[in-house]
Amino acid sequence: MLNVTAYAAASPTADILPTTIERRDVGPDDVLIEIKYAGICHSDIHTVRGDWGAQTYPLTVGHEIAGVVAEVGSAVTKWAVGTSVGVGCMVNSCRECANCRAGLEQYCEGGNVGTYGSIDRDGTVTQGGYSTHIVVDQDFVLRIPEAIDLAVAAPLLCAGITTYSPLRHWNAAPGRKVAVVGMGGLGHMAVKLAHALGAEVTVLSQTLSKEADGRAFGATRYFATSDPATFSELTNEFDLIINTVSAEIDMRAYLSLLRLDGVLVNVGAPPEPLPVPVFALFTNRRSFAGSSIGGIAETQEMLDFCAEHGVVPETELIAADQITEAWLRVLKSDVRYRFVIDVATMV
Ligand SMILES: [Zn+2]
Ligand SMILES: [Zn+2]
Repeated sequence: MLNVTAYAAASPTADILPTTIERRDVGPDDVLIEIKYAGICHSDIHTVRGDWGAQTYPLTVGHEIAGVVAEVGSAVTKWAVGTSVGVGCMVNSCRECANCRAGLEQYCEGGNVGTYGSIDRDGTVTQGGYSTHIVVDQDFVLRIPEAIDLAVAAPLLCAGITTYSPLRHWNAAPGRKVAVVGMGGLGHMAVKLAHALGAEVTVLSQTLSKEADGRAFGATRYFATSDPATFSELTNEFDLIINTVSAEIDMRAYLSLLRLDGVLVNVGAPPEPLPVPVFALFTNRRSFAGSSIGGIAETQEMLDFCAEHGVVPETELIAADQITEAWLRVLKSDVRYRFVIDVATMV
């Protein structure tokens, strides 16, 4: 076992404090990564606070990880010491089911192994990226292209792929109209990626307070959802709506914005069920859908796409002792647009 420095929660209500955790020894297929930066995702907070089910504590979260290969196992062929790499939301899957064989490990029929709070193959509970090091199977490591600064790369591993995958699957492209609901960590990436993919992008946000940012990220239109005129003006408008909001929204109003064969995809995760009015789906043969992160190959494709198109997250770099404070700000949507922990401050 390797003892490494990490920040962990001792209980659902505890602050995120320094501690030492164990990583498994580097096996033949493993890569030891020296973590340089870790993004703060809203899922980290939901998981620790028990919103999505009971956890085992102490728990170290973090699934937006950027670092450098520090050691490789004897059978590792893909990675060399010193390479810039990332780890996202999953660290293993069965590799045998139809979905895994199709490169859709996130939909592994047996469930993928999450980067934190999951039972790993050796029976231990996985621990995430708020830490100086992590040991990961070589097949679940991503290459971070040189064109992307490591300090801003981390949020691509969750916020980036979570929005890129549905944009690709439902064909965000030139001639297509995409609306992004919510301008937070996920939403700002959806705007940048949809624009880079060539779609015409509209932001639907509660207020116009982030309009200048939205337009700078590539949106050509920006509407306040607090204004009822928005919904009458945009009826039957969009091919695709990416909903990043993790609270209840008025489904009838949002579905009415979809044109023929339009799709509303949820990537935010509200704790309560969303009531969907079926008659609103009959009109225009609309679809109501969900999407979860992306497979390993698609995540690499996304990283390479971002490097090629100059797409990077907007980040606020913090020290490790500011994590608890940063979480409070995430809960108030007071971040533009993703906190990233500088792991060098983790001493
Ligand atoms: Zn996440
Ligand atoms: Zn599988």
